[in-house]
Amino acid sequence: MSDLLSGGCLCGEVQFELKSEFKTFYQCHCKQCQKLTGSAFASNLFTSIENINWIKGIDSISHFEDKEREFSKSFCRHCGSALPFINKRNTSLIVPAGSLDSKIGTQLQANIFVAEKASWSKDECNAKDFDGFPS
Ligand SMILES: [Zn+2]
Ligand SMILES: [Zn+2]
Repeated sequence: MSDLLSGGCLCGEVQFELKSEFKTFYQCHCKQCQKLTGSAFASNLFTSIENINWIKGIDSISHFEDKEREFSKSFCRHCGSALPFINKRNTSLIVPAGSLDSKIGTQLQANIFVAEKASWSKDECNAKDFDGFPS
């Protein structure tokens, strides 16, 4: 039996749980993920499409899907938080790692699309770690 992880959006409207059974864990640095997250990269866990139990708020989920290419995002329409979604090819459930409330044991497998890395995130590996804001 694998652990049950819980997750949800920031405002609490949407909540879900899923089993800790991940195929892979990528940090994607592509330009589209920068736009979708407003940040340097997207941290996404991949699991099987049936591995999700929506506890509440399914009506509060909005979905964006690019018409031509494989970029999509599900998000809470109240607070905009990223939420799990099934990819266009219907092969995986993509879980934004930050949407989970539980700690996960899965280690990051790869940084992908690093060629498109934001110029300002170049030295992230050499940066010091802080638990909160630097004091
Ligand atoms: Zn929300
Ligand atoms: Zn990407």
